[in-house]
Order: sequence, then C-alpha cells, then structure tokens
Amino acid sequence: MSYSVVWFKRDLRVHDHAALHEAIKKGPTLCLYLIEPSLWSTNCVATQHYHFLLESLRDLYKEIKRCGSVLHVVTGEAVEVFDRLYHLKPFHLLCSHEETGDAVSYERDRAVARWCRQRSIAWSQSKQFGVTRGLKDRDHWKKHWDQHIRQPCIPVPTTIQGTPLPWHEPPPPNAAELRLDPHDPPLRQKGGRHLALAVLGTFLNDRSTQYRGGISSPLSAPTACSRISAYLAFGCLSLREVMQATTQKMQELTPGNAWHKKGLAAFTSRLHWHCHFIQKLESEPEIEFQNMHRGYDGLRENDWNAEHFDALVAGKTGWPLVDACVAMLRETGWLNFRMRAMLVSTAAYPLWLDWRPVGQWLARQFLDYEPGIHWSQLQMQSGTTGINVPRIYNPLKQAQDHDPNGIFVRRWIPAMQRVPDSWLFEPWKMPVSLQQKHDVAIGDDLGRPVVDLATATRVAKQKLFELRAQTQVRAGKSAIVRKHGSRKGLRITKKKTLVAPPPQQDLLDF
Ligand SMILES: Cc1cc2nc3c(=O)[nH]c(=O)nc-3n(C[C@H](O)[C@H](O)[C@H](O)COP(=O)(O)OP(=O)(O)OC[C@H]3O[C@@H](n4cnc5c(N)ncnc54)[C@H](O)[C@@H]3O)c2cc1C
Repeated sequence: MSYSVVWFKRDLRVHDHAALHEAIKKGPTLCLYLIEPSLWSTNCVATQHYHFLLESLRDLYKEIKRCGSVLHVVTGEAVEVFDRLYHLKPFHLLCSHEETGDAVSYERDRAVARWCRQRSIAWSQSKQFGVTRGLKDRDHWKKHWDQHIRQPCIPVPTTIQGTPLPWHEPPPPNAAELRLDPHDPPLRQKGGRHLALAVLGTFLNDRSTQYRGGISSPLSAPTACSRISAYLAFGCLSLREVMQATTQKMQELTPGNAWHKKGLAAFTSRLHWHCHFIQKLESEPEIEFQNMHRGYDGLRENDWNAEHFDALVAGKTGWPLVDACVAMLRETGWLNFRMRAMLVSTAAYPLWLDWRPVGQWLARQFLDYEPGIHWSQLQMQSGTTGINVPRIYNPLKQAQDHDPNGIFVRRWIPAMQRVPDSWLFEPWKMPVSLQQKHDVAIGDDLGRPVVDLATATRVAKQKLFELRAQTQVRAGKSAIVRKHGSRKGLRITKKKTLVAPPPQQDLLDF
C-alpha cells in the first residue's frame, strides 16, 4: 500500500500544518525530519541553533505521538535519504512547506525537485508565510499576504495513520560530531512549541502593554518585545496563528485598554515586515551574497580590516554600548531591533566592514537567524540596497538616549561598574591616574576605539553619498523599488508607474 511522506523542515508543529494536512487526507503518512550535514556546515549556524532544533523536535515528537504516530528523525542528505526510502518502500507523494532559506537549502530543494521529477513523485509544497513564490513585482503583495493570513488555521489532526521507517535509525549526532561552532549562549531561549505558546501568551496578555515605548531601549526590550522570533524561524508557531491570536486579543480589549491595543497594532505591523523582508530573498536569492544594488559593488569589499572585525567580535571596540550588545548576544542569543541595527551600522560605517562576513558572524550569534530577514537587514543597515535612506546610528548618542545611567552597559561589561558616571560614554578618555584610581585599564579591561568615531563616520558617509549621487547608481534604483520596495506610501498609477511621496530627510542620528 502506498503512503505519503511529510517532510518537516522549518515548521516544527502539527497545528496549522498544511503539508501534514494534505498528506494525511491521502492515507498512511510517514513523518520525517532530516538532519542534513550540508545545512549544518555553513558559516551561519552554531550549536545554539542545533540544540534549539533538538528541543523543538522533542516537542514535535510528543505532538505526533498524541496523534497516534511517530516522528522519524534521520541523518543524511535529502536526496540520499529519499532515494534509500524510495528503494526500500516506494512512495508517490512528498509534502512539505515552501522554504525561503539560504543558498545551501535552495540548492538542496532544487536537487530534491529534480529527483522527484525523475521518479514521477509529486512534491507538494504548501505556503507557510505570506511570501509568494514566482512573484513578478510588489504591486499586489499585500493582497496575497492578507489572503494567506486570513484563512482559518488548520487544526491539529485527531489521528495520523503512520507507517514505519524501513530501517533502524541511530539517534541524531551531537553538535561536536557535526563540527558545529560551539557557540551556545547560557541564557538563550529554549526550543519547542509548548514554550513558544507560553511566550506568546505572556506577550499578548501582559507584556505587549510595554511594546510601544519599550522596544528600543536594550533595557526594556527583552520583556517589551514579543520574543517569538526564534519560534517563528523554526516554525514552532505559525505566523498565521500569531496574527489571528493578536487580532482576537485586540478585539477583546476594551476602550480603556487603548495603549495595550496600540502596542498590539504596532506588533502586527512587524508581522507584515517578517514576510516583506523574506519576500526579498525569495524573489532574489542572490542578495545573500551580492549587493541588492550592484552599483554599490566594490564599496567596501576590498577594504577588509581584520583588526576592526576582531575588535567588534571580541566586544572590544571601546564604545560601551556596542561592546555591551556583543556581550549580551554572547550570553543570550538575542538583541532588539535597534541594537542589531546599531551594531551593523557601527560595523558598516566607522569600522567600514563589508556586510557579508559581519552577517555570517551575526547569523551564528542570533538564535532567530532567518535568512530572508537577516540578509535584507544587513544590506539595509549597510546602505547597499540603493532604495533605503541610509541610517547611521551613533553608538554614543544611542547610549545617551537608551541607557543614560549606564545600567545596561554595567550589566554586560563588569569593568564598566568601576567607571565613574562622568566617563560612562567615553571611558577611553579617562586620564591614566583616574584609571589607576578606579582600577580600570583601557586597552585591557575595556577596549580602546580602533578609530576616531566622528572622523571615521564622516569619511564613510562621504564615500557612500558620493556613490549614491552617481547618475548610473541613481538610475538603477527604480528597478529595485519595483522588485523589492514596499508599496506603503507609494501610489500606483493606471500605467503601473510608482509615484513616490515627497523625499524625507536622511535619518542620520548624528
Ligand atoms: C541586522 C539585523 C538582522 C536581523 N536578523 C534577523 C533574523 O535573522 N531573524 C529575525 O527574525 N529577525 C531579524 N531581525 C529583525 C528584528 O531585529 C528581530 O525580528 C526582532 O528583534 C526579534 O525579536 P522579537 O520577536 O521580540 O520582535 P518583535 O518586535 O516582537 O516582532 C515580532 C516579529 O516580527 C518580525 N519582525 C520584527 N522586526 C522586524 C524587522 N525589522 N524586519 C523583519 N521582521 C521583523 C519578527 O518575525 C519578530 O519575531 C534583524 C534585524 C537587524 C537590524
């Protein structure tokens, strides 16, 4: 008797799982998760991702068991495993969700598609986000997003008629066997759907009251933000269920809870952004490696400065807020949006570092690494998209605005506890006698800036703005807007011309 295979990928749940739903309608189903060594050998993953995955798989295993079946976790490359399975126990339908991943997973999917075609196996890929495959331009993107998000969530199946794997599979390898980067922050979030639901619940019912006004400061953000990003990246939650639960919560709130409601409304706009950014990688996978606007090629690539990069990665740039963010990332695997943007902006402008190696390092640091959001944001904050107004964050001003009393920097950099308040933002300027008095050695306990912030930023801005002003660079912009640009604030005329709103002032916070 034939059966279908459900290939779990970054969708580790049984609730609102279109691929599982489709397979079980047809009869016996083999639930499969693949640990693919090639996917775990890229520069963008670390032990924290693998451990979060295993924690999530344990939850998924229990959920599938409750439906009367078994999750089979197999180690091997996708085509090899499917081929072995097919020879031992032929199947004719493979069901999974569409995945917008990095280059390795994209190539893997193309190889699986070829393999399926050669054996006349149908591979059905369902949509899991508001991301549209094969989209020509962005004009009707929002309509597609709404259509997907408004459909009712698919309930958890009551039973799954399982079928056994035709071989005995050993337990999954450990992180060392996969030769993973050992980075696993001691305070990172743990994986699994039951924790995902608990985090979402506390956010919707309570923490979202702090969302407005609380998400920018690194002090309030860890509780004010939803903290669901890793659960979305691994698919422990479906975006649709999060959006629908949020809408329902907003409807339940009384007029007296207007602030809470506004917080939730701001949160829903982020859920749009989630897909808006992933769509960019879906439509142009090359943006993982190439500048979105090719006119920016050569801007920084040939100026790589290992000393600057090492100082950044070690948390020794000397700028306390930057170094504290690196320390927090090392310990927790998470940072809020503004601090991520400031880190990348510091790397891209005063330190003049190319976004690719910086992005690979950060991907290993961010537990919620989501290629579509990550690479689009890296390029946006580095000024290489050609369509976004460059945002250059001054780490000293950010510290004055968001950590004026030094609570954050002193929490994450112990030596800062010995620095008097008057030197909080520029500790490297402390006279040696004062350093001795307070037992702080600049260049040892705390970093000494590798560049003068104001001068290096001015030079960087000059280089970027000179390039932006070139005729051919300006001319390349409209094609990128058509392909990737948000239509918010733009008018589309009958002749499909995009009419932009009046130009904004550049958002430089110097
Ligand atoms: C350089 C850089 C790299 C980033 N890399 C990632 C990444 O790899 N994975 C990732 O999920 N987010 C990334 N972000 C976006 C954002 O910082 C995180 O989504 C957010 O901090 C996660 O915390 P949260 O779930 O509490 O966010 P909330 O503010 O509660 O937002 C809820 C959800 O909305 C989405 N979202 C929020 N902000 C953005 C945004 N600016 N762009 C797109 N989607 C957004 C995320 O899915 C997030 O989980 C990056 C931002 C920058 C500046």
